[in-house]
Amino acid sequence: MQVIDIINEAIADGKTRFTFELLPPLKGAGVDGVFEAIDPLMEFDPAYINVTYHREDVKYVERADGLLEKRIVRRRPGTVGISAAIMKRYGVESVPHIICGGLSKYDIEDALIDMDFLGIHNVLALRGDNVRGEHVFRPQPDGHGSASELVRQIVDMNNGIFVDHEVDKCAHSQFCIGVAGYPEKHAEAANYETGLKHLKEKVDAGASYVVTQMSFDNAKILEFIRRCREADITVPIIPGIKPFSTKAQLSMLPQVFHVDLPQELVNEVEKCSDNKQVREVGVEWAVAQAKELKKAGVPVLHFYTMGKTDNMVKIAREVF
Ligand code: FAD
Repeated sequence: MQVIDIINEAIADGKTRFTFELLPPLKGAGVDGVFEAIDPLMEFDPAYINVTYHREDVKYVERADGLLEKRIVRRRPGTVGISAAIMKRYGVESVPHIICGGLSKYDIEDALIDMDFLGIHNVLALRGDNVRGEHVFRPQPDGHGSASELVRQIVDMNNGIFVDHEVDKCAHSQFCIGVAGYPEKHAEAANYETGLKHLKEKVDAGASYVVTQMSFDNAKILEFIRRCREADITVPIIPGIKPFSTKAQLSMLPQVFHVDLPQELVNEVEKCSDNKQVREVGVEWAVAQAKELKKAGVPVLHFYTMGKTDNMVKIAREVF
């Protein structure tokens, strides 16, 4: 089933559902950890499950002569395989993420063909971030520079147009495509309006829905939805919520994701004496956010779990 149909059903039923995002296991780890994270959430009937995609990382290793050697490492491969394993085990739709960073159009096409063979018909199309240590995003030779180009490639494939234009007749893929939106502006966007213009490009290219970057402030999420509608972005918008979970996130989340933390949340986290307490504060904050967004009528909420779901179970019990 396509995610857009699931979203539209939720809209028709007036019932807010949820999805959560998981990471593929670290290379060498088995799939069991992922299943252990999902198992306790299945009783709450998630609408679908997202699986992130991770580009190559850069590591510097000291050599015997004291010089540093640059090595490329891939820590979390397996997005497509894990997505298929989730669908097979739980009978729930999975949504693998796919990125431009580090991949050529051919690599992307290969991944999409694998997904299609495995019965995966949903994908979240993203540009991805810069390689660690680089300040600008550099597309792969023969790759894409923005998510809208990636969306166009997926739409082309749905229409039977492959990268090398060598296929005349084919079984058409039917990917439903989601894209990312930024209630607090993407760090590289010149301003809010420009960010919306680029979001509209992705939707006009063929995306069926938008998932937002995490925000801890519902006023910003609802304002973003309002501004999208004003900008004629009419597809469903799925707000992203991150249950706050460690003190280190007070500086890490603003640095990495370019989001503001409301002062009230910062105060509550600072009062905590350990991360167990921080996790409880995070659950309370996420529950309050989710309840309010549910009241506002959003069809699906997207939870960023970073792979650990004990807090998500508490949230699901309270809200869904
Ligand atoms: P784009 O839409 O291409 O936008 C990137 C920047 O370029 C924006 O500032 C935009 O305004 C600008 N831009 C776009 N088009 C143009 C244009 N034509 N001309 C000039 N500027 C332009 N990253 C991963 O690596 N793996 C994941 O699994 C992953 N999952 C994510 C899930 C969600 C829900 C979200 C919100 C983000 C996720 N990310 C993931 C992070 C994402 O890859 C980064 O935020 C990335 O920096 C931007 O991706 P994008 O798809 O929004 O890019």
